Amino acid sequence: MTDSDELPWNSMSIKLPAEAFVSGGFFDEQLRFAARVGRGALRVTAKSSEPWLSIVPQSFAVAAGGIMDADVVVDVSAARRMVEGGRPPLGELHIEFTQQNSAGVRVEQTASVSVHLPVAVCPSCKKVLHIPSHLGAKPPTVCMHCFERLRPCPQCGVLNTWRVRTCLVSPNHIIRASEDWVTLGGNSSHTGIADVPLGAGALIWQYPVTLHTNPLRRLQWSSVITAFGVVYAASTPGDGEHLLHAFDVESGTPVWEPYVLPAPVHPDRGGVCVVGDLIVAGLVSGSVVAVDAIRGTRRWMVDIGGSVYGSVIPLNNEAVAVPVADGIHTGRLVVLTTDGGRIRYEVPMSGRPECTPAAHNNVVVVHDDTGGVLAINASTGATLWYTQLADSFDAAPVVNDGIVYCGGHDGILRALVLETGEVIWQSPVLGGAITGTPSIADSVLAVPTVEGLCLVSRETGQPVQRTSRGPVRAQPIVAPDGFLFAGKDARLHRLAAGMAVDDVYDAGGGGPQVSVPMAYADGNVYVATTRGVLHALRMTGVL
Ligand SMILES: [Zn+2]
Ligand SMILES: [Zn+2]
Repeated sequence: MTDSDELPWNSMSIKLPAEAFVSGGFFDEQLRFAARVGRGALRVTAKSSEPWLSIVPQSFAVAAGGIMDADVVVDVSAARRMVEGGRPPLGELHIEFTQQNSAGVRVEQTASVSVHLPVAVCPSCKKVLHIPSHLGAKPPTVCMHCFERLRPCPQCGVLNTWRVRTCLVSPNHIIRASEDWVTLGGNSSHTGIADVPLGAGALIWQYPVTLHTNPLRRLQWSSVITAFGVVYAASTPGDGEHLLHAFDVESGTPVWEPYVLPAPVHPDRGGVCVVGDLIVAGLVSGSVVAVDAIRGTRRWMVDIGGSVYGSVIPLNNEAVAVPVADGIHTGRLVVLTTDGGRIRYEVPMSGRPECTPAAHNNVVVVHDDTGGVLAINASTGATLWYTQLADSFDAAPVVNDGIVYCGGHDGILRALVLETGEVIWQSPVLGGAITGTPSIADSVLAVPTVEGLCLVSRETGQPVQRTSRGPVRAQPIVAPDGFLFAGKDARLHRLAAGMAVDDVYDAGGGGPQVSVPMAYADGNVYVATTRGVLHALRMTGVL
């Protein structure tokens, strides 16, 4: 043990009993300081973070070998007022102390004692939630006033909403490390980058647990996303209820009853997205629905006409872009406000948008089925450029560093300047149609083609590595050590630079494919197959 591990007092945290909080007045508890023999005098100065919390005395010295009891005092009425006024139910005593280390040198150290009040404050509606005093009582997991889902900070215990990544007490308290995967490829640029270990995948849960006996009733999934520790995806059995699901990322337990959609999200190219506290779904019927991500309740629904095939994407917290196909030869890019789903603007298109748009640096890029690419200013809807590139697209555009990459059904991958549409290079050497959305690593693009995954230099457009396991349709995930991609036989493969392909998981051989993009959260990958099953896999570092 080092000197700093051995703090010269007896408790690191004090919990105020529920009875003391109810009865009011003053509560006190002693903190015992002991100066070790042979380390000279212990000098202590303590400061409180909250006006309701104090320590008496605040500054003192203890002779070597001696002890000293200090009183930690809580002014309960003041604490109650502060908490009801919105302060977290936590106080801290910051203690500075000096004593000699084992080498006989006086060193100054600091440490904190936390004082927890037996209440929690809902960070959403700010109402005080009492924690019962019986043994083992835990803070509530749902606010009984506004039904916000709550989880305690792993560092200080204060309740936070499921939606935040850092604690309301301090941004240094990390509640969730993983970034949210809010749309195809994780973000509206569709980069597909995840901090996922590239080893074997172990099944942690699946939905449904058993396959429907009638193959026609099996679920067709849309693109999977993750946020706040929840997996979201829409499913349709073709002839039954079209559902929006929300599963706990670790257990697979539904977070709310599936939300019944009036029409399907396109099962192949479509997907839902997360914007703020909303899940937004564009439906093939031309409706757009926004559902409260935490409660599973409807916030708004608008009918914008036409059909939505690709996924709705977030532009920022205030707006989403919706690709709308009208009739046989035309379409629109519609931008809706997240507050109420009002149309902010719509841009007519000279072809049907059948894939998900991309957005980056205030530019929205969208493919149409005539092979055209349209770029607009995301704030105003003004057209920046339009260019005819391919015969059609099965892939969404992807954007990084001011460059947009467009993978055509004609098998040609093109890199364009995002601001101007000027073609930087085109790569016609991939061997067959580009069948899914590419993902973007530092120096290469991972391109799904009809022959297999192909890695292409971002600088030159030249292929640098290829696989030959047959068509890849789902967007690959870029991991720190390589790529995770799904083959035609529902197997997940890994591809590391300069190595042959390895299998990391078999989602059930014999026919099913992975055709919708995968999602990532906290070391897990979520994969839906054409056999109708959503698989949650814990990825390990070893094969
Ligand atoms: Zn609340
Ligand atoms: Zn905290």
